[in-house]
Amino acid sequence: MKRVLIVGSGIAGISCAIECAGKGMDVTLVSPFPSERAQSVLAAGGINAVLYDGDDSVKCHMEDTLKGGCNIAGTEAVRGLCTDAPEIIRWLEKKGTVFTTNPDGKISRRAFGGQSHNRTCYCGSATGKQIMTALVMEARRFEGQGKIKRILWMDFYKALIKDGKCYGAIFYDESKADLVMIPADYLVIATGGQNALFGKTTGSTLCDGYAQGKLFMQGVELKNLEFIQYHPTTLETAQKKLLVSEAVRGEGGRLYYVENGKRVYFMEDLYGERGNLMPRDIVSKTMAATGRDIFLDISFLGKEEILKRIPEVYDLCQKYKGIDISKESIPVTPSVHFFMGGIAVKNNHETKVENLYAIGECASIYHGANRLGGNSLLAAIHGARVAAESIESKGNPSDLENKTESITPDFSDELKEERIALANRRSFESVFPVMYLRDMLAENLREDLGIVRNEEKLKKGLDDVDYYLSIADKIHYDRSEMAYLGFSLTGILTLARATLVCAGFREESRGAHIRSDYPDSLDQWKAATIISYDNGEYRTRLDVEKEYES
Ligand SMILES: Cc1cc2nc3c(=O)[nH]c(=O)nc-3n(C[C@H](O)[C@H](O)[C@H](O)COP(=O)(O)OP(=O)(O)OC[C@H]3O[C@@H](n4cnc5c(N)ncnc54)[C@H](O)[C@@H]3O)c2cc1C
Repeated sequence: MKRVLIVGSGIAGISCAIECAGKGMDVTLVSPFPSERAQSVLAAGGINAVLYDGDDSVKCHMEDTLKGGCNIAGTEAVRGLCTDAPEIIRWLEKKGTVFTTNPDGKISRRAFGGQSHNRTCYCGSATGKQIMTALVMEARRFEGQGKIKRILWMDFYKALIKDGKCYGAIFYDESKADLVMIPADYLVIATGGQNALFGKTTGSTLCDGYAQGKLFMQGVELKNLEFIQYHPTTLETAQKKLLVSEAVRGEGGRLYYVENGKRVYFMEDLYGERGNLMPRDIVSKTMAATGRDIFLDISFLGKEEILKRIPEVYDLCQKYKGIDISKESIPVTPSVHFFMGGIAVKNNHETKVENLYAIGECASIYHGANRLGGNSLLAAIHGARVAAESIESKGNPSDLENKTESITPDFSDELKEERIALANRRSFESVFPVMYLRDMLAENLREDLGIVRNEEKLKKGLDDVDYYLSIADKIHYDRSEMAYLGFSLTGILTLARATLVCAGFREESRGAHIRSDYPDSLDQWKAATIISYDNGEYRTRLDVEKEYES
């Protein structure tokens, strides 16, 4: 039986576990926290799919996605994503997801930014939670049958790679404070985005990007790291940036600033009727360019409709800001929300390393330079299904091994060495606590990798990260700080450095960011950025995808 090891149990990881178990594979699903605490649970707005007959079509969904991503995502990958979307909605319904429906029984769809048609399906105001609840139940069913083994309190440490092929992974077991090796025929990484790099984001800092950074150091290529989505409408609080869902603009919400005592609806002035529903990159960049305080007004809907259509936004604003949005406007600012960049994968979600896959937000494939709202949950499930199919279509290394002498390399020496390295690190002393360094990094990156950036800021960012890297190995950590925070630092900093290098490499403005020193979008940059690591060297190149032909 094929042994599939999946790291991360958010929507991507758990979907892949279900698909692989359904195909008769032996699945181990590992994460430090239960699925119920994955960032996927926060998703509120919805998931895109073209359903029923009408004006909309898979072709429109595809064109919106490619255009929204500024034409650098792979056409064939996006075609697969949009074609699979209706089937994914049916798949989710079969697993027990209850979507909001119209009086005629059809699934309701709302407008979302950058989309030519209303195609965002939703479950009240808790789409992610509803979907995850259904998927956790399904995973438990397989668990009961012994087809999925779920392991908690384990952090990814490194992949077992030899001669360009993957054989499983080593984890840090928090309960034993020790390293554990889990051999497997296929390793699937589903560890989410890299929020911890930026600290205060709309997402979960449990998604720290360590796996991406560590795999990069192990020879896996990363892609499009410079494209960081700033969601236009977030609420500032002391600890976090709280998302004011795009559903507010989907329901007619209007952005404005005040000049000479009058409201200026700048998005409508610039882009017409659908101005407020332009793709997120355009809205955020336009907001930044005004240099003013921006407000979002939905009060005209009235309290009854607000409570019916977007109750979570009403509660959020009331609870954290004391604002009654049926009477007052919401003060909003753009904040880091999603990462278009991540692990570079082929269309079957396999990386450059054989039998090593990446899915969900940690992989970069469908969203180009800017993601459309509602396409991420879709991409996470689609990627999971594609990876499971690809693994199913491949040979069965375990069977092969039974017939011949062992073909799996022996990694026991590697495990022994890593244990010694970990024990040695415990003896280092430093004046910097780990969290202080992570906070400093986050503050620097929010400043240097903002919506508007330039060479000077990016160089400063590199200098800062290089300094942190130079001391990272000497950071003292003890049990109270959790060893994971300490050893993960070098991987996180390496990912931060790679992101700054990619941002400096792209000498143009595209999608989510503006380079103030290179303000134009240029044809020669209409390509993805690939970065690789070789003995401390960071190497960048462009990867041109096949043009879309309608
Ligand atoms: C507030 C908010 C609202 C959103 N709303 C929507 C929406 O309406 N529609 C939409 O399409 N998208 C939305 N998104 C984006 C979407 O939710 C995410 O992109 C998607 O859920 C990512 O799923 P994932 O499975 O890749 O990662 P996650 O759900 O983040 O799961 C990652 C998993 O990896 C584990 N993990 C992390 N690090 C490690 C490690 N080092 N070792 C082992 N395991 C690790 C975590 O514990 C977790 O189990 C929203 C995002 C946010 C923040």
